[in-house]
Amino acid sequence: MAISVFDLFKIGIGPSSSHTVGPMRAAALFVQGLRERGHLQQVRRVEVRLYGSLSATGVGHGSDSAVIMGLMGDWPDAIDPAQIAPRIAALHDSGCLLLDGHFEVPFEWQRDMLLLDENLPYHPNAMTLIVEGDGGELHRDTYYSVGGGFVVDAEQAASGVLDQDRTELPYDFSSAEELLQLCKTHNLRVSELMMANEKAWRSEAEIRQGLMRLWKAMRDCVDNGLKHEGILPGGLNVKRRAAKLHRSLQELGKPNVIGSTLSGMEWVNLFALAVNEENAAGGRMVTAPTNGAAGIIPAVLHYFVRFSPAVTEADVCEYFLAAAAIGILCKKNASISGAEVGCQGEVGSACAMAAAGLAEILGATPGQLENAAEIGLEHNLGLTCDPVGGLVQVPCIERNAIAAVKAINAAQMALRGDGEHFISLDRVIRTMRDTGADMHDKYKETSRGGLAVSAIEC
Ligand code: SF4
Repeated sequence: MAISVFDLFKIGIGPSSSHTVGPMRAAALFVQGLRERGHLQQVRRVEVRLYGSLSATGVGHGSDSAVIMGLMGDWPDAIDPAQIAPRIAALHDSGCLLLDGHFEVPFEWQRDMLLLDENLPYHPNAMTLIVEGDGGELHRDTYYSVGGGFVVDAEQAASGVLDQDRTELPYDFSSAEELLQLCKTHNLRVSELMMANEKAWRSEAEIRQGLMRLWKAMRDCVDNGLKHEGILPGGLNVKRRAAKLHRSLQELGKPNVIGSTLSGMEWVNLFALAVNEENAAGGRMVTAPTNGAAGIIPAVLHYFVRFSPAVTEADVCEYFLAAAAIGILCKKNASISGAEVGCQGEVGSACAMAAAGLAEILGATPGQLENAAEIGLEHNLGLTCDPVGGLVQVPCIERNAIAAVKAINAAQMALRGDGEHFISLDRVIRTMRDTGADMHDKYKETSRGGLAVSAIEC
């Protein structure tokens, strides 16, 4: 399986990559298939079936609305997030869904949007889309949203081929050990090796432009998060904190040396809160590698870029490429999906990725970088996914701030060493996979355990 940096970092919308971005992509792919088959004009009814975690926490994550937007032909990277609520309200009023943006199909929410208390065999985030014509069923497809906005259909799931991308990479790796060996053999830094691999898909100029586009989207997300105030949607009455914290930190003055002051840590918190509040409000953001954990990687980079002298575009590209190398390892050997392995797969992976990215731009050797990622992930092992009310707010927003600070500390600790350490990143990733397999389902994005339950009890 070949995974690109642009698979892990995707411009999308909040609040969840697996529950919002993935379902919207699945529905848009379904409509694309109908278009190619020439079925669109014949559709008289659409039925949406959400299963497992998509059913349990889908409404809180906006999965139902996201599927409708996908059925209307919208994609997560292009849709205007501010238009989703009014368009859903219009659908409720009219009882009419514009399939692929053009074809009117009656849609009754209670009848046609089914939240089912059952699981499909392959993955907890499952959905089936069915269209009927005058003569009965025209077509149906089942999709699995497997984390980070990745979607596989039933055929791919049944064949076990989760990623059809068979691109041959010059330095393909499936373990950190292989990655380190390749770096050593070819005398490459991790970001250089990743750049060489990325060139299998696109030119270096396109890669750099794409990475800077991601960085711009992350900066816009932080700027929006610092502007917006008030209460987050969803009913928990969680207050946005970033704007107020920003004003307070501006009064204190910016730190001028990276890692030097406690207020520096507060700026890291600020950037993460801004992103995750924007994500919780359904705003434009970048999966990194998921929405729930989207604040960590931009927070660490914002911290570095804003408060370090002479940061270059090359540093930014190095950061994303090195972070992606670790994301690839987590995805290939465990999971980046909270529904599969709990929050360790989301926040843990993002923390390891950010630690690796920061270590890279601070001049780490490949061994030190691997150590930074290992520290970042190790101290998130066992973290459960238990969002209160099924909303990506509590504990998710603060958890990103804590993990961003942890990532910086992990990079600093690793840079003080020589890359030698007790337990390898490969073993920690394997431990994440095994811990996730042992974890009770109630701790995997179902909101049936942990804080999700305690918060309701009290
Ligand atoms: S608890 Fe973690 S994995 Fe679960 S929704 Fe929140 S950030 Fe994502």
